[in-house]
Amino acid sequence: MIKAIIDPGHAPGNANKGPTGYYEYQGVWKLSTYLKEILQAKGIQADFTRTWEQDPELYARGQKAAGYDLFISEHTNANDGKSRGTEVFYDYSKPQDKEFSEKLAGNVAAVMGNTNRGAKTRVYTESGKIYNYYGVIRGAAATDCKHILLIESGFHDNIQDEAFLKVDENLKKIAQAQAEVICNFLGIKEHWAEKHKLSLESKGIEINDDRYDDFMTRGEVFALLDRIVK
Ligand SMILES: [Zn+2]
Repeated sequence: MIKAIIDPGHAPGNANKGPTGYYEYQGVWKLSTYLKEILQAKGIQADFTRTWEQDPELYARGQKAAGYDLFISEHTNANDGKSRGTEVFYDYSKPQDKEFSEKLAGNVAAVMGNTNRGAKTRVYTESGKIYNYYGVIRGAAATDCKHILLIESGFHDNIQDEAFLKVDENLKKIAQAQAEVICNFLGIKEHWAEKHKLSLESKGIEINDDRYDDFMTRGEVFALLDRIVK
């Protein structure tokens, strides 16, 4: 089974916020929860680095990546209020994750309507050795985890990005956009029936279920026929 661990970036009490009421710890918690649900529906084991109340130290959060195929830390960015866009940091020692990171940033930027700021690494040197700058990435890089990413889905101090992040349905869209790229890079094949489900949903038929291979009962067949036979 493919295993992913999601790190909801900040805990309650964290001060990072937007100009009109968005709090990063709340936004990334919701986003992480949506992502977890989507990945689980795809048959991936998805876990969190922390509970709602817990606030583990950054390096320790990263170390929870041991035994997982993917570690992803969820954040929203802040700068000068003018910057917009989505960027993904990856472990500098895994250059093969550059493409993964670029696609991830691009897919999220597309749904947010902001700029793809691309794949990035950030490092520092100490006693001649190179280390990842971000504690969570550094901690995860000390484990056997295959893919280690930190995503900044938009800038919460930008009024346009913040407006998008304040809507739960939009956070769901971001999670969906992340999940598409994650499944692709982790080799999860799309079920043949998924396109039919999406097509029905685009026609306004709500289907809150991904159990494509479960049987229907005779009663459900009658209900279905009754709905479609005019
Ligand atoms: Zn953050």
